[in-house]
Amino acid sequence: IDAEAQSVLDAIEENDVDFLRIQFTDILGTVKNVSIPASQAEKAFTEGIYFDGSSIEGFVRIQESDMRLKPDPNTFAILPWKTREDGTVSARLIADVMDASGSNFAGDPRHVLKRALKKAGNMGYTLNAGPEPEFFLFEEEDGRATTITHDAGGYFDLAPKDLASDVRRDIIYGLEQMGFEVEASHHEVAEGQHEIDFKYDDGLTTADNIATFRAVVRAIAAEHELHSTFMPKPIAGINGSGMHTHLSLFTEDGENAFHDADDEFNLSETADQFLAGILEHAPAITAVCNPTVNSYKRLVSGYEAPVYVAWSDVNRSALIRKPAARTPAASRIELRSPDPSCNPYLALAVMLQAGIDGIERGLTAPDPVRENIYEFDETAREEYGIDTLPANLGEAIDVLETDEVILDALGDHIAEKFIEAKRAEFDDYRAAVSEWELDQYLETF
Ligand code: GLN
Ligand code: MG
Ligand code: MG
Ligand code: MG
Repeated sequence: IDAEAQSVLDAIEENDVDFLRIQFTDILGTVKNVSIPASQAEKAFTEGIYFDGSSIEGFVRIQESDMRLKPDPNTFAILPWKTREDGTVSARLIADVMDASGSNFAGDPRHVLKRALKKAGNMGYTLNAGPEPEFFLFEEEDGRATTITHDAGGYFDLAPKDLASDVRRDIIYGLEQMGFEVEASHHEVAEGQHEIDFKYDDGLTTADNIATFRAVVRAIAAEHELHSTFMPKPIAGINGSGMHTHLSLFTEDGENAFHDADDEFNLSETADQFLAGILEHAPAITAVCNPTVNSYKRLVSGYEAPVYVAWSDVNRSALIRKPAARTPAASRIELRSPDPSCNPYLALAVMLQAGIDGIERGLTAPDPVRENIYEFDETAREEYGIDTLPANLGEAIDVLETDEVILDALGDHIAEKFIEAKRAEFDDYRAAVSEWELDQYLETF
């Protein structure tokens, strides 16, 4: 047993941990977990935990279903809300998924991200990523979620209008107990909508953090008898929930490769090429960063979410923004399309791959767009050469299928299973009859 695993065993001792939840995510980003008594921890590190992969969405067929979880000792954390309940202490470990032959399983999203990070590593870069996940808090009724917002606050409102500040406080305590460094939290624009920003970290840690974050928010909201949702657009006519993602590349000696003090935006040529790569692959990465039918109800004009493929230093209707940076380490770009329903491992993998492709090919970014793009008509957009994001999940999958660079980042296994699952989801949606249609047509025809 290695030193890292040993330190987890020590922490289990010290904290009287009773149960360990071993977690991983399926292709759609759903967290799966198996619980083991703490006495089995050592064996979990030395032998792994066997499970039937054919029972997990998008994994494997029955005949090759012997899979093994290999817990990553760096991800040990005590689950504060589980512990409070009844005195038993539970902790979690995030695991890599190994296939029957003992190699990393090609269908493990965490492995896909690791592969992309390694590729960047071979070019001398590490990825830093900082997400801004937004979510709604809704009332529950008979234990079921409603869309009745918990409060009527707005952007940066303070209590008493912002009834949820107690809930947010408890969420933040929970996150801190799990090792998060929370930088800011505030009421978002829409009623019942909130944002909690935690510190950027390396790509893998950030993806793990996003998965953990969603679980913490859900659990603590439930303690307050509220339902939290990361569904991108739960209510029409008001802002949806995004997950803006700040990205930069650092060099091996800890310098920010995106920083250039002489540039107007303090951004280097490398940053520019990375940005150009993201713009080029923006339509194709949408299926991964915005993977639900509902994601596309958010990506419409007028609600601070991007619709057009352009960047800006001032305008928040653009897809990419260059935020003002106070220190060299903070020079970065902000991608504003992702939403919190995405699989964070796959989303970070494709964002990184898109940017890296821009660097490898030495692409140059177009000029920034400083006007409100929502107000552009088609002629103005053509004049600026501005492309649009896919209008729905079906279009998003179509363009994903044409982008070899992004398909390659996902790898054959995940690309195939992801596209298959998302096509089925979109077909199912197309066949459904919505409330809107009944309102429009039932009495008209
Ligand atoms: N909720 C908006 C979105 O969908 C973002 C609003 C903001 O953070 N200023 O992306
Ligand atoms: Mg924000
Ligand atoms: Mg926000
Ligand atoms: Mg932002």
